[in-house]
Amino acid sequence: RQADTLLAVADLNAYYGESHILHGSSFEVPRGEVVTLLGRNGAGKTTTLRAIMGMVADRRGSIVFDGTELVGLPSNRIARLGIGYCPEERGIFASLDVEENLLLPPVVSGGGMSMEQIFTLFPNLRERLRSSGTRLSGGEQQMLAIGRILRTGAKLLLLDEPTEGLAPVIVQQIGSVIRTLKEQGFTILLVEQNFHFASTVADRHYVMENGRVVDMIPNDQLADREDALHDYLGV
Ligand code: ATP
Repeated sequence: RQADTLLAVADLNAYYGESHILHGSSFEVPRGEVVTLLGRNGAGKTTTLRAIMGMVADRRGSIVFDGTELVGLPSNRIARLGIGYCPEERGIFASLDVEENLLLPPVVSGGGMSMEQIFTLFPNLRERLRSSGTRLSGGEQQMLAIGRILRTGAKLLLLDEPTEGLAPVIVQQIGSVIRTLKEQGFTILLVEQNFHFASTVADRHYVMENGRVVDMIPNDQLADREDALHDYLGV
């Protein structure tokens, strides 16, 4: 049976001013799967997430989400269709406390998580409810950033390097949250540098080089393809 495709990116090109960054990238994210974008620094992973979200002004090609073409739509419309983006820098407001940060984005699509459900997923956040953004650890900030998009009702989560700079025990917690979200039916597209972590959460991996997807590796073939992956990533 062909997996049901939630997001289909085809021949995606993206430009920052005169710089041509994505060169005809194509890949698919099946509904209910966790999919990673792997690749060296500068391969175009972050730009891909930003292009999906409509945050790169000049993009060409096709990005179909649940039957709707996203190229040409502004970011707020794309968010309202049910896509949540968690940027690498996390975007936590330093002067707001945890609850205020959680309440900030509007609920864009029915069926978002309640605060109670978010606290079940991230018990730390309940304890830190009145702490301002600046007082949170890196791990707590990451959890808050993910919790915040879960409140909106997004069903496709775009996560940019959620484990970056976090201690191993926190990385494991993020991993278990991602697996729980998958069990709950969320679809996740994850940019990762940590390919060991990626192998513990993902169903498939796309490898990016020079602005395009050059390979797809199902997670169960990752061990067999490890040498190729090391070449791609230069590790
Ligand atoms: P990294 O892990 O370093 O973020 P990446 O694969 O996510 O790598 P991108 O951040 O998508 O790569 O960057 C791809 C290319 O686009 C790089 O050459 C980068 O310098 C360039 N780039 C990124 N943002 C901008 C911008 N705002 N203006 C111009 N060029 C940019």
